[in-house]
Amino acid sequence: MSHIFPRHTKQLPPVAARGEGCYLYDTSGKQYLDASGGAAVSCLGHGDKTIIEAVKAQLDTLAYAHTGFFTSEPAETLADLLIAHAPGDLDRVYLVSGGSEAMEAALKLARQYFVEKGEPKRGRLIARKQSYHGNTMGALSAGGNEWRRAQFGPLLIDMSHIDPCYEYRLKRDDESLEEYGVRAANLLEEELLRVGPENVMAFAAEPVVGATAGALTAAPGYFKRIREICDQYGILLILDEVMCGMGRTGSLFACEQDGVTPDILCIAKGLGAGYQPIGAMLCSRKIYETIENGSGFFQHGHTYLGHPTAAAAGVAVVSAILGRNLIPRVKTQGAKLMAALEAEFGQHPNVGDIRGRGLFQGVELVADRETKAPFDPARKIAGRIKTAAFEAGLICYPMSGTIDGQSGDHVLLAPPFIISDDQIDELVQKLSGAIETALRA
Ligand code: PMP
Repeated sequence: MSHIFPRHTKQLPPVAARGEGCYLYDTSGKQYLDASGGAAVSCLGHGDKTIIEAVKAQLDTLAYAHTGFFTSEPAETLADLLIAHAPGDLDRVYLVSGGSEAMEAALKLARQYFVEKGEPKRGRLIARKQSYHGNTMGALSAGGNEWRRAQFGPLLIDMSHIDPCYEYRLKRDDESLEEYGVRAANLLEEELLRVGPENVMAFAAEPVVGATAGALTAAPGYFKRIREICDQYGILLILDEVMCGMGRTGSLFACEQDGVTPDILCIAKGLGAGYQPIGAMLCSRKIYETIENGSGFFQHGHTYLGHPTAAAAGVAVVSAILGRNLIPRVKTQGAKLMAALEAEFGQHPNVGDIRGRGLFQGVELVADRETKAPFDPARKIAGRIKTAAFEAGLICYPMSGTIDGQSGDHVLLAPPFIISDDQIDELVQKLSGAIETALRA
């Protein structure tokens, strides 16, 4: 009998035995194509010898040293590497163990920044509906996914959630994509004026929304207008690239393609590529200097901050992404995946939208393509796709999202950057079979 506390107590999972390239194998020998990299984690695939050797070498040298006493070579190297490639004036790196921790650190840093700056009223966060920023109480407060939040209220921070930039559902026919982008961004200004900008510390968003919306990209100009509004009202811009960062969308940081630099940027998942748990919060010089010249102490921390072994994995992963020229590959394989999805589902009566960027793509399912009506949640379409795909040996990431009850089921795809053309075909064929099985049920 297992003593593991599984995520779903009525659905015990198979035991994963080993991984190789884009495939995972369970203890019965069954093979699974990992088309979502777990949850957009395994960007280099499984069993990458270079990363494994880097981790082993670090364990032989120094497994761990507490940041209350020391920094370490791998942590310093990783911070240098990230800042060398980060946009704008991002200047400092705070290394944590995952995405929620990175977002918690971001929220607390934003708050401490304003307290030290002499603006203690600034405590409210504005984020977006249909977003996910992590599962710890602070990060969960920031996220706008009702289902994930429902039973944990009252949550921790004063929050507002505005509509996301969601072309498929919220753009009007009488406006261009650019006009819609500006209108969607102006919702931030409206909310700031409603709650009083002097009470707001930051706006948080995922540049490409992952888990809760299936690779939702923003309209051109959306984030530029968001940046302008943040600057005008003196609030910080926090971008959560936990899922979409580290090359996944075709640039090391997703925000590069939106032409903006945040004040705080969070990454995780692809940073360790699954070889070690690691996340990071990057912040601008202005924020760092306010703390440095103020209390000199960021009042936050965890035991495993800057973990040397995790940092060594991060150095090896970032070096592999850059050194093996994987970002151009994300673009070419991403274009092939998009073309294959369009060929398979472009005319499908229950596929409303196919979207995404790089190797971060989503398919939104609808009961009616004309009206865009979502499926009745009781049909559990996303859950059924997940089960049917898994049975067929495909790991993908179906979810049902809601925005005022107006979104349906979607499937997120985030395969390893090394995915081959044949594996793209295998992915699309297995996904197609799983969708048909779910629709028939
Ligand atoms: N932010 C985003 C955008 C995420 O997708 C996730 C995880 N799905 C998190 C934060 C939380 O990361 P973690 O699960 O590593 O705590």
